[in-house]
Amino acid sequence: MINSFLDTKSLPAKVREELDKVSRIAEYLWTREWAERNAGNISVNLTGYFRDQSFEDLEEIPCPLPKQVAGLVLFVTGTGCYLRHLIDRIEEVSCILKINDDASAYSIIWGGKKEGFRPTSELISHVKIHYFNLTANPTYTAVVHTHPIELIVLSHHPIILDEEKTNHALWRMCPEVRVFVPRGISCAPYALSGSEELADITIEGLKHRDVVIWEKHGALATGEDVETAFDYLDVANKGAKLLLMAWAANFEPRGLTDEELKGLEKFL
Ligand SMILES: [Zn+2]
Repeated sequence: MINSFLDTKSLPAKVREELDKVSRIAEYLWTREWAERNAGNISVNLTGYFRDQSFEDLEEIPCPLPKQVAGLVLFVTGTGCYLRHLIDRIEEVSCILKINDDASAYSIIWGGKKEGFRPTSELISHVKIHYFNLTANPTYTAVVHTHPIELIVLSHHPIILDEEKTNHALWRMCPEVRVFVPRGISCAPYALSGSEELADITIEGLKHRDVVIWEKHGALATGEDVETAFDYLDVANKGAKLLLMAWAANFEPRGLTDEELKGLEKFL
């Protein structure tokens, strides 16, 4: 089947469902104050829904990408766009793009209607994480980067320099953190947003952790869909919030004991 640029009604129903989830999660991020101004970006690998479709006569925008991502179809938010606008004007501030066969360019097949629209400046990070997921976590399709307040505050605390100690402190705050962020968090040293260096450090973190904090900046998680990726961030941030509240009240939390933590392992 040959298709040119798609409108929302002609997208596969499953893709529309994924877009609805993105709008819902964007609303959560905005109401939690995790998405000020143009903070954050989201992408979803939709390649599986477009296997039978080819796209012709669409403008190709040159963008050299790793060869392994040739042919991928991704939903991505736009650079400079406000995540809160995903709630009610998703077609303007995000797009679905298809990477060409030699990964030298992409074409926008849906959305991107805002004047001067361009995909997120973090495109290279998102693309590299999707490629990593294809082999490491084949069921993971979504990547969410946002600015969770308490995780950012925690990244300023010296405890963050000791990954084991940080995760132990978070897991001890309540059972949910142990069970639903089972591999814990890692903290990537400060690096410039949008850099390939940050992308590579993030992927190193995702090899053994569920959430990667970008020191003094924000956090990123990947999951089966945007909701699952959000859940990792939400539960990890809850642990950080509880820990900071205990410290703010000027006591060191007693925390779950090692035996109590051990008892939770059957739920992992
Ligand atoms: Zn950010």
